[in-house]
Amino acid sequence: MKQSPFSLAVCTLASGSKGNATYISDGETSILVDAGLSGIEIQRRLASRGLSPEDLDAIIVTHEHSDHIRGVGILSRRYNLPVFINPKTHQACPRLGRLHEARPFECGTTFHVNDMAVHPFAISHDAQDPAGFTIGQNGTTIGIATDLGIATAMVRQHLKRCALLILEANHDLSMLETGPYPWPLKQRIRSRTGHLSNPDSKKLLNELQHDDLQHVILGHLSEINNTPQKAFDEVSGAITRCNAELTVADQYSSGPVIYLK
Ligand SMILES: [Zn+2]
Ligand SMILES: [Zn+2]
Repeated sequence: MKQSPFSLAVCTLASGSKGNATYISDGETSILVDAGLSGIEIQRRLASRGLSPEDLDAIIVTHEHSDHIRGVGILSRRYNLPVFINPKTHQACPRLGRLHEARPFECGTTFHVNDMAVHPFAISHDAQDPAGFTIGQNGTTIGIATDLGIATAMVRQHLKRCALLILEANHDLSMLETGPYPWPLKQRIRSRTGHLSNPDSKKLLNELQHDDLQHVILGHLSEINNTPQKAFDEVSGAITRCNAELTVADQYSSGPVIYLK
């Protein structure tokens, strides 16, 4: 048995359309889900929370949009990290460059990084084969689903019973409607393959909450069409049947390291 004082630790290094990266560790194995900032900036964000890229074991990629992959190639080469990426996503990333090692996965099939079990599942987003993940270790499971236009039954099924959830709260509906984006872009964001709104996120969380849900992190907020306060105020109304703490991930700085029981 491992003697770790926590089951899993989670730290959002960045979240939003300018870059996404989440650090997850069980105390022995540490991974990044996405690395959408420059390599040097990822190192800085890790260091700001006392974490080191030297301790990473792998990078896992959700989809090919640049806000999720910008630093993947350089970090993989610099720290000899395997990159778990599904084949369609990899094909859609010609600028990734050489990877230390690419390990293909398929949505629906669990894979392991050492003892950490990672289950990828399909999400609805305008990318080749976008994935959300649940990650399980020491009896604790966390769920990550950002960049999705709708929370399908499959997404809801996978995110049940997680101790921590990272959910998208991309936009406030009236800010998007009255905001400066051109009509086609507004349409894209609202579409089934776009991004979840604050009320969508609230509805999803209301359904997913359970007694053992410890923490919910809202992510991928639009800087133009949302504010952290609006997202927090709207989505926090969903938490009626548990004592989960709700926080909002930031684009420009790492969040605290959250240690799960
Ligand atoms: Zn994104
Ligand atoms: Zn995306």
